[in-house]
Amino acid sequence: MLRSVILAASRSSQVERLVATAPFTRDVVRRFVAGAATDDALRATRELVADGQAVTLDYLGEDTTTPEQANATRDEYLTLLSGLAAAGLTPAAEVSVKLSALGQMFDEQLAYDNARAICAAADAAGTTVTLDMEDHTTTDSTLDILAKLRKDHPGTGAVLQAYLRRTESDCRELASAGSRVRLCKGAYKEPESVAYQSAREVDKSYVRCMNVLMSGDGYPMLATHDPRLIAIGEDRARWFDRDPGRFEFQMLYGIRPEEQQRLVGEGYTVRTYVPYGDQWYGYLMRRLAERPANLAFFGRAVLSK
Ligand code: FAD
Repeated sequence: MLRSVILAASRSSQVERLVATAPFTRDVVRRFVAGAATDDALRATRELVADGQAVTLDYLGEDTTTPEQANATRDEYLTLLSGLAAAGLTPAAEVSVKLSALGQMFDEQLAYDNARAICAAADAAGTTVTLDMEDHTTTDSTLDILAKLRKDHPGTGAVLQAYLRRTESDCRELASAGSRVRLCKGAYKEPESVAYQSAREVDKSYVRCMNVLMSGDGYPMLATHDPRLIAIGEDRARWFDRDPGRFEFQMLYGIRPEEQQRLVGEGYTVRTYVPYGDQWYGYLMRRLAERPANLAFFGRAVLSK
């Protein structure tokens, strides 16, 4: 119920205005978002890489409605990628891209062209791109664009969401040599017709999908903060003889940093997903919807003002 209310608020421009101007917002945003500018993203990346982590950077931007906005997002990624290469942060750092921010909602060809330009820049910088997955109405389009991009840029990664009923079958399709697949639970509010609704069903699906990916020929990227799923991931790595170079764990910036360090200490590859940019609202609300403890953190920031 609370999750639905917060996810509904994440789509409301009125609530966005209220939250954005509230005095407590800066502290809350700072915990989950690296900052507004490219330099903030580079600084956060440098710190994480110095701590032995890999990074994927997301320039925050959703609901792009004009070609100008889409092209500006593409250009920011091009600037970011040359900054990462110049700072010697590739290949440890790669980028994550939302096709909606590149124009997917109004011009699929434009989104593809922009994504292709980012993939070419990533190649030149010696790193890769992963296409984030958004709500289920975009899954087919995103996987189609992924398949086209992989012809020239085979390292381009996909994201599959365990809450979707179709995902186990998508995992089978994508568990092939050279294919990079991030498996996450899924962050959007989806109808029962397409998605499992209970946490237990989603977790069971995650394990089935993980089994497919870890036993397959691709490169699995297990994106979760869930201690039970991380333990099962460690178990499957032993079972399927996957050494740390053949799969990775991924977590979000600011969430369970001590667990990220524990896994690095155990010798695993751990990649932190680092969002930056001034369009942090939708991203932050999805994080708050996921976990009551994050709401308590929000509350403490309010009370301390
Ligand atoms: P949850 O069900 O949120 O939490 C399970 C358990 O994990 C909790 O009970 C608790 O024990 C522990 N936990 C969780 N958060 C915390 C915390 N803050 N502190 C302490 N313990 C905690 N979603 C998409 O839809 N598309 C994407 O492209 C996408 N990319 C992602 C990339 C990465 C790297 C990650 C990590 C997530 C991504 N997500 C994406 C979000 C994802 O789908 C989930 O919404 C999000 O990760 C929460 O699910 P969870 O697996 O962490 O477990």
